[in-house]
Amino acid sequence: MARLIFLGPPGAGKGTQADTLAHLCNIPHISTGDILRGAVSQQTDLGIKAQSYMDQGELVPDQLILDLVRDRLGQPDIEKGWILDGFPRNVNQAVFLDELLQEIEQTCDCVVNLEVPDDVLVARLLSRGRKDDSEEVIRNRLQVYREQTAPLIDFYSDRQQLISVDGNRSVEHVNVDLQQIIQD
Ligand code: AMP
Repeated sequence: MARLIFLGPPGAGKGTQADTLAHLCNIPHISTGDILRGAVSQQTDLGIKAQSYMDQGELVPDQLILDLVRDRLGQPDIEKGWILDGFPRNVNQAVFLDELLQEIEQTCDCVVNLEVPDDVLVARLLSRGRKDDSEEVIRNRLQVYREQTAPLIDFYSDRQQLISVDGNRSVEHVNVDLQQIIQD
């Protein structure tokens, strides 16, 4: 059973690693970014509200995300374990998650922080070619990460939940480390 949060800047490889690990453990990979992109492509209410924030590299307002996460963590498949990727993204979301996990009688095993230097992140994101990966939007996403998401590193390390992993290596190497972490 693994219940993990993946933290790290955009381009750190959270999505790729979370996907591999989730398949391996047969647990859901819950990416708020993927859920939002799905909502945008289907032009649901949520997607219409979220789109302009995503296009600019800003965070979508908490209320939209919190409803989405509450709903997703209410699904039966999470009993097997889960990997949260891209959530929480700020302290308010982390506090909400604490309360929600208590409410549904779950705990998070650990928070994995994927560390990658800025210049590597920009190069990776530019080569990815996603709509929100133009250079200007990338710089904004990194700035938003530093201001709003990076404080979660202290938030979780103060609670002895944080494990940092060097994400500036091959996908395979990083994956081996992550498999080790969930076995410990
Ligand atoms: P990601 O694929 O995780 O990089 O997310 C893509 C975009 O979706 C972000 O730049 C935000 O606009 C939005 N997003 C994803 N997760 C969150 C979240 N937890 N809180 C607010 N916005 C989010």
